[in-house]
Amino acid sequence: MRLTYQPFELELKHTFTIAKFSRTSTPVMLVQLHLDGFTGYGEASMVPYMGESYASATAFLEQVDMSQFAYPFDFEAIINYLDGIAPGQPAIKAAIDIALNDLNGKLQQQPCWKLLGSDPTQMPVTSFTVGIAEPAEMIQKLKDAEGFKVVKVKLGSKDDKGLINTIRSVTDVPLYVDANQGWDDREKALELVHWLHEQGIVLIEQPFNKTDPDSNAWLTERSPIPIIGDESVQRLSDVAKAKGVYHGINIKLMKSAGMFEAKRMIDEANRLGLKIMIGCMSETSCATLAAAALAPQCHWADLDGPFLTTNNPYKMPGFVDGKWVLNNEDGLGLNLV
Ligand code: MG
Repeated sequence: MRLTYQPFELELKHTFTIAKFSRTSTPVMLVQLHLDGFTGYGEASMVPYMGESYASATAFLEQVDMSQFAYPFDFEAIINYLDGIAPGQPAIKAAIDIALNDLNGKLQQQPCWKLLGSDPTQMPVTSFTVGIAEPAEMIQKLKDAEGFKVVKVKLGSKDDKGLINTIRSVTDVPLYVDANQGWDDREKALELVHWLHEQGIVLIEQPFNKTDPDSNAWLTERSPIPIIGDESVQRLSDVAKAKGVYHGINIKLMKSAGMFEAKRMIDEANRLGLKIMIGCMSETSCATLAAAALAPQCHWADLDGPFLTTNNPYKMPGFVDGKWVLNNEDGLGLNLV
């Protein structure tokens, strides 16, 4: 099995602002695995706050020797091998895992979603994310959200209620809220959560800092809306720690080191009675299809990556009634332009 890769700067439609950061593009590493005339495609989306970069990804890939692995693939052995090269760096590990899943599907002549045990009729709607902005810009951004059944909004601004009021002045779709660790006062947070409940908010992501499980657990205990851990839940070992702190977890392939471990996290969350959201970073169709293959096994999906970017190097997958369409092609079902 041979590995190739190219850096790719994924441009964002709007300057993206969340509680702590702002940016206009995302560095992505496109990865391919080649075997027996088939090519599997993968992708690492390296949002700056996660600490990976073209330099770290290249340094990692230069140490990877995939020629030692034969088909049929032992996914567990391969992810253990990648973890042995360096700790952390889940995005570039995910790129290899996604390419491996795509290649595996092509070699087995099966779609990835089928191999992972997903039922396409259970696909949840995908939310469309709008970042923090002034009211006029917010309303403009919401126009991009037409066709989506759910909108996700980033909170943690100076005036969170004002932001929700602005959204509610133009749409009454269900809302997901992401505080991105931006809240710091328990009582104020609880008051806001009750108010958000009245505004039809469906769930709240990561209210307090990921290093403050006590405050997150305090709010979870009292909240009428599901509280979801995102930044505090990266890989499989974090799922058990989320029990009692959050109602559910947000799984992202760029945190979990790919599809193999994400599937294990889903199974573990189900075992523990935790709700499951599947999310994304700024991603092309490639990582989006990889997450969509698992989305029917999750309660909520936030897989809007390709809608928030302007230079997706792949064809846009099917999207109908606010949901990704899983096709019957082998592997991820990714189509080159
Ligand atoms: Mg989040």
